[in-house]
Formats: sequence, C-alpha cells, structure tokens
Amino acid sequence: MGGDDRLNFGRRVSDLASRSERDRYVALAFCWADLLLHLNGDGEILFAAGAFKAFTGRDGKDLVGVSFLSLVTPEDVPLASQCLRQTLKRGRVDGEILRLVRPMGLPLPMDLSGYSLDGQSYIALRMRAKITNAATDDSTRDSLTGLLGPEAFSEAAGQRIRAMVDQGRKVGVTVVNLRDYDSLRDRMDDTNAKGMLRSVGASLRAAALDQDSATLINDGSYSLLHDVDADIQGLERQLTEISRLHDPDGQGVTVETAILDMDGADQIGEVDLAKGLMYAMNHYRRLEGDKLSIRNLSSNISQLVAQGVGEVTEFKRIVAERNFSIALQPIIHAGNGDIHHYEALCRFSSKRPHESPFRYITFAEETGLIHEFDLAMATKVLEWLGTKPRNSNAYNVAINISGFSMGMDSYVAGLKALLDANPWSKGKVMFEITESSRMSDLDAANRFIGVLRNRGYQVCLDDFGAGAASFQYLSALEVDTVKIDGSAVRNAMRGVKGKAFLSALTDLCRRLGVRTIAEMIDSPQSLEFVRDCGCDYVQGFLFGRPSLDIKDFQPLPHAKLFQPEIRVPRVSSGRTVKGRLAPKRGRE
Ligand code: C2E
Ligand code: MG
Ligand code: MG
Repeated sequence: MGGDDRLNFGRRVSDLASRSERDRYVALAFCWADLLLHLNGDGEILFAAGAFKAFTGRDGKDLVGVSFLSLVTPEDVPLASQCLRQTLKRGRVDGEILRLVRPMGLPLPMDLSGYSLDGQSYIALRMRAKITNAATDDSTRDSLTGLLGPEAFSEAAGQRIRAMVDQGRKVGVTVVNLRDYDSLRDRMDDTNAKGMLRSVGASLRAAALDQDSATLINDGSYSLLHDVDADIQGLERQLTEISRLHDPDGQGVTVETAILDMDGADQIGEVDLAKGLMYAMNHYRRLEGDKLSIRNLSSNISQLVAQGVGEVTEFKRIVAERNFSIALQPIIHAGNGDIHHYEALCRFSSKRPHESPFRYITFAEETGLIHEFDLAMATKVLEWLGTKPRNSNAYNVAINISGFSMGMDSYVAGLKALLDANPWSKGKVMFEITESSRMSDLDAANRFIGVLRNRGYQVCLDDFGAGAASFQYLSALEVDTVKIDGSAVRNAMRGVKGKAFLSALTDLCRRLGVRTIAEMIDSPQSLEFVRDCGCDYVQGFLFGRPSLDIKDFQPLPHAKLFQPEIRVPRVSSGRTVKGRLAPKRGRE
C-alpha cells in the first residue's frame, strides 16, 4: 500500500480521537494488512484504505456505499458472506482466504481478518505470501473444493472435538450429500463444474468451525465439524442455490444432511474419536456405492467407534486364520501369447471369485493393517507355489505389495525372513508395487526394491499412469517392469494423441531397460492397440478373469489372436481392416 494512502487513512481516523493514539492503531493495522475496510451491518463499505486501485482497479473512495461482496470472486461470495456474519456474531474472524476480483489477471488470494464493534465490521486483507490458490497450498486438500481429505479431517476433527468437549462446548458433525450429483455433473461443462465445486467447498468451509473442519468424502458428499448451533438448514439452502445456479437446466440437486450424535464423546480419546470419524467416512463411502441414503449411517459416535473396532478385529481374524483365497490372472507375452507369469489377487470369498478385494484392501490401508495382510498373502502364495514342481516355471507368480507396507519395518523383516526360508522361490516369484502413492519415502522404497532384486526377485511398478507422480516413481525407482494402468490404456485408446504418448512411454521404458505390461486388455482391439504401441506383455479379461483355478488358463482363452493372420477391427479408424498380428520380438 502506498505511503499516502496510509497517511490519509491515519488522518481521517485521527480526526475522530486523539491523533497520536489513532495513528498508532492505524500503523499497527497496516503492519499486517494491505487493505482496510470499515463496513456497516449490511456489509456496505463505509470507508476503505489501502492501495485498492492496485488490488481491485478501483479507488478506495469510490468504494464507499458498495457491497464488500462485490469485491470478491463469485465463487467466494458464500465464504465472504459467512465471514461477515461470523464477524458480527462472534466478534472476530481470522485465517480465511478470499480471492479479490481484478480487472485484469487472475483473482488475487488474500488472507482476511475481521473484527466487529457496535454492529459494524472492520476487515483487514493481506496479500498472501505465495500467490497460489488457497486450495492447492496443502497437498492434503482437494484442489477444487479446498476441503481436507477424510484422513486429515478425521485427525484434525478428533483433536478439535476433544478440546471443545473438554471446555464444555458442544459440537456437531454433519454429513452432507448432494443427491443426483452425478447427473448434474453430466449436465455441466468443466468450467461450470469447477465453479460449482469451488463454491460448495467455500460454503462448507465457512459453515464449519474453521478451514480444516470440512472434508470431501466422495464426489457430491461431504462432512463438516461445526458449532452445535450452526445453521445447517441455511447451509442446505445455500448449497441447493449454488447447484441451481450452475445447472444449465436450473434444476440443481436435492441436498440432504445427517447429523452425528456426539453423546458419549467426552468418554472417548482424540485418537479413537478420529478413528470413529474415519470409520464413519469410509462406511459412508461404501454405503454410497450401494446407493443407500445417508440416513442409514449409524448416527452415534460411540457406536461408530465400536463398529470400527469390530471391523478391525474381524479383519485381523481373517488375516490370522488366512481366511482368504488366491485368484490368478495370466500376464501374456504380447507377441507370441506365452504366459510369462500369473498375478496373485486376493479374494475374500471363495464363493464369489469375481468380487474385487478393493474394499478390504482400502480398509486395511486406512486402518494400518495392510502390511500384515500383504505378508499373509505372500506366505500363502509361497505355500501354494511350494506344492508345485520346483523344476517348472509354469506357475511363476507376482505378489502385490502396497506402497504403505514397504514403509513398515515389520513387513520388510517378515518378507526377508519368508524369502530366506524359501530360497527356491527365487526366479519364480516377483513383486508388484501397488498403491505407490502410499510410499512415504522414495529413497527407502528404492532400498527395499534393491533388497528384493539383489536376492533375485524382480520388481514391477503397478498402476503406472493412474496418478500424477508416475514418471517421478519411474525415474526414482529401479524396477524391472512397469505395469500400465488399465485406465491409462483406455484413455490412450480414446484420445487422438493417445497412441503417440503410449508408444513414447514404451520407447522410454525400453531405453531404460524396463519391460511394459498393458493392463485391462479386454478386447481384440485393445490387444492390437497396445501391441502397436510396443507394449511387451498384456493382461486382461480377454484372456480370462482372475480365477481360483489355474486350469482355466489351459488352454489360454483367445490364444488364436496370437496366430499370424487375423482380422481385427481397428479402433482408430472405426473400420474393419485386415490387421497382421505378427509376433513382435519380445525382450526376452
Ligand atoms: P491391481 O494390482 O492393479 O490388479 C489388477 C486388477 O485389474 C484386478 O482387480 C483385476 O481383476 C482387474 N482386471 C484385470 N483385467 C481386467 C480387465 O480386462 N478389465 C477390468 N475391468 N479389470 C481387469 P482386483 O482383483 O479387483 O484387484 C483390485 C486391486 O486390489 C489390485 O489392483 C490391487 O491393487 C489390490 N490387490 C489385490 N490383491 C492384493 C494383495 O494381495 N495385496 C495388496 N496390497 N493389494 C492387492
Ligand atoms: Mg497388481
Ligand atoms: Mg494395476
């Protein structure tokens, strides 16, 4: 802010009272702020000081009589109005971030502090040290809504609930669901959807206790920790309005909320409170998949903690009793159709071999039990392999390891002991690092990979292309193989430049001496596509779903696709052309 502006503001205030005292207050205010505003109870500007011209394109004096809300971006209006309400109600607001509209250039994020006296508000705005979107400041936040992820939220909320309950204050946790969000999302274009999510995030954060007290559970479902007397109906109305504003049909969504009963919270420690909340969030995510109403969510925190403990105990029992099965799916040489090895995939019900273990695996990761499971799975796979002839490579198998497990000393020690006890497994077993986003320390991960490779076990980086950090992992980790995630293969098949990108990736891997496996190959077209892109191996439903019985792959379904002359409809042209699936030279 310019020196003249500061001086003018100082002079005006000093007209009102003892000059030196007022000057001191004003100077103190500018120690922190770039812009100062005095608003009436309706949020209209009575006085503005600071370099407003530079920040908003308008002089401070021209802003008198203008609504404060007109200075901020439309997405931040809900948050700004909530800030004003809270300033008036609570006397003070701090630590909020609003973006000012600028005549040119991107909106400018500003830290806001508010203070109220005699029904009027005094607002100080300060340019953020880093000009970034507030939402992206923290890696645990969702980039659009600015909301914390469920894990970070549960941890923060556990502490806050504990502290507030200790002070005798009452809190509420509410789950919010935008019913039919998916169809609304289909109706909106990307710009509209982004705008809507920003506003939804801002409204939830504003209604919550603070910026860290609201979470994104899933697309269209959220949770927030709030004062017990927070206006949740007002929030419902606000969210309904936001959805209507952004809906091209003007229809919007129905907003439903369910409140968690916090009775008994005073008897629960902050760690268990966090676990209970985490359980509630996960439980809700699962319910949502089944399209059940959020009213089915158990509504008492003590009950949720107990249910969470119950599920953990049950999972531990499954692991201890090795009460799960191994399904196998072949990984096939893209050129000659030979089975190179099988991926071992866990199944928790032998009656439902096609049921994905994903829910259990996610649960185990979220509750810190995955390393125990991964070790149990490795043990079971080695036991199975131990029953097969040692001189045959027909049963070679890859075992999944969660990135999370790799960071657990007990897992690393347990796996080393297991491999030492079964040295014959060398060359027959390989490992796939799945959920690599869970790796906390890349150097440590690389050391672990080195231990396995030095012992003669190959290592594959799973899920390549599913997350933003894939190339970072590929560069940092010394692996033998990269498995290209099914979603990446599908995207490559859809996009115009997809083939060029995938071919460049396989080329890069080849230069690095790393082999490639293309996942989710479920049609002759996808097989042809990835072979054209130079992938070395393929895996997918086209050659059978994962099965508890290895004989299902003898003979290999669709083995004829590896014969030299086959007619395959090409995806790129949409026409049926004669495609020659001549075996390519593999890397081995
Ligand atoms: P993943 O390691 O990427 O395994 C491949 C998944 O893709 C398997 O799902 C497989 O059934 C599925 N798949 C294979 N071909 C196709 C296809 O053509 N189309 C489609 N739509 N899907 C195909 P599954 O068995 O449900 O496993 C899901 C994930 O669970 C695995 O993904 C892996 O991340 C995890 N998982 C499975 N077993 C273990 C384990 O023992 N330990 C750990 N940590 N994770 C495991
Ligand atoms: Mg895998
Ligand atoms: Mg995968």
